[in-house]
Amino acid sequence: MGSWNFSVFWDEVMNQTRSELGDHEFAMWFNIQYDSSSESAITIRVPSSFYKDQLVKQYQGFLESKLFDLAGRRIAIEFIVVKPTQSADPAFSPQGGDGQRSPEPRPKIEVNVPAAKVKEKHSQLRSDYTFENFVIGDNNGFASNAALAISKNPGTSYNPFLIYGGVGLGKTHLMQSIGNRVWRDSPKLKVICITAEEFTNEFIQSIHDKTTQNFKNKYRYVDVLLIDDIHFLQNKLGSQEELFHTFNALYDANKQMVFTCDRPVSELKNLSDRLRSRFERGLNVDLQPPNFETRSAILKKKIEAGRISVPDEVIEIIAKNISTNVRDLEAALTKLIAYAELVHREITLEIAQNQLKDVFSQSKHGNVTIDNILRVVADYFKLSYNDLKGKKRTKNIALPRQIAMFIARDITEYSTTELGFEFGGRDHTTVMHACQKIEERLKLDPNLESTIGAIVRAIKDYSSKA
Ligand code: ADP
Ligand code: MG
Repeated sequence: MGSWNFSVFWDEVMNQTRSELGDHEFAMWFNIQYDSSSESAITIRVPSSFYKDQLVKQYQGFLESKLFDLAGRRIAIEFIVVKPTQSADPAFSPQGGDGQRSPEPRPKIEVNVPAAKVKEKHSQLRSDYTFENFVIGDNNGFASNAALAISKNPGTSYNPFLIYGGVGLGKTHLMQSIGNRVWRDSPKLKVICITAEEFTNEFIQSIHDKTTQNFKNKYRYVDVLLIDDIHFLQNKLGSQEELFHTFNALYDANKQMVFTCDRPVSELKNLSDRLRSRFERGLNVDLQPPNFETRSAILKKKIEAGRISVPDEVIEIIAKNISTNVRDLEAALTKLIAYAELVHREITLEIAQNQLKDVFSQSKHGNVTIDNILRVVADYFKLSYNDLKGKKRTKNIALPRQIAMFIARDITEYSTTELGFEFGGRDHTTVMHACQKIEERLKLDPNLESTIGAIVRAIKDYSSKA
């Protein structure tokens, strides 16, 4: 048993419970007392079996989840019935403690085996961020496989595991999937999942409250520590220092750490070298924007989970038009479904096009670069990239170059001056002239529009895979 003492946590749980339930309900049911702690449980004395049954039924889960939040690990609650020693007394005095009742003999104990088999939700993990809901695609195959391997054997390989990449690409989802899988399959393991910001705030609070030892105990005795968005730690030297020591303790004990970051660790600023080198140990993998197939698969998965059917052609235009990240992709789908539900109509291509017009035009610049445009246009007209960018003015090159400029102006945010520069150091008037030419031609040549349309689609597709 050792020297476990969770009474501080228990007191805090009681404080919170009192303020949440109100004095009346609290007085009715919480005439109970802390007894003792073991490594994984707290024993609480209750005055009768009836009390015990009610507490187990109504409050045990509630209390255990509060304990979890405070202690960062699962601590079960065991209720023991301690009949009041003298018959008159219906219950204990609320905070009385041992002084008010005869301390021995140790009462007859009915241990209530806590409802450990009932799988409760982990309070820090989103229950939908699971591997089951995560589409493994072109952009995340390696990261997903590593994550799966880690959740089978946490702490044994790939430690730490660090996932980096831009916003909305699935870093948090993948990290929490590890947590959820471990939580489900290895109930004995203690999993903590927080953001770097929460870590920082809690650390500062613990300094303020003079409870840094509790803080250290909480984070240095976990089996799986998941910390989201570590870029937040830039400039936070105190928290970096604390995390450095936490890292070392966990690393030496072969406990699994998983971090996410919005950029490669090498690009973080104002991060101590020693913490940087710790992050870079183990395995660092990046997530990329998904390609068209993966985007379609993700949309299908989300649709499956809901109750509204969405035609394939609609999935296709969403996946085609939104290539930036998964969050935007989901947002578009959600918007469309919300609209359809509101007006009680089936989702059609037309509705989708109308409703998502703005979303599509916002995201159309996605990852499109001038370089990508040049490559795709060159490819389309069977020219070389260098020819298109270069000085030659022969007719077979001049027209494709004008088309490339026209498209670039249309689908990117570049100014004509910037475009001139990107197109081999030309003057902005050249770009303007090219765009005019194409506009004139468009009026005369009915095929040109569809040619340009096809090239634009190819550029977007290419860019989303790049
Ligand atoms: P990040 O942490 O990288 O900003 P998130 O993990 O929050 O991104 O992902 C954004 C949204 O996209 C979430 O709702 C997540 O469920 C979803 N998502 C991202 N990648 C995938 C994927 N491969 N399969 C299914 N959903 C995904
Ligand atoms: Mg995230």
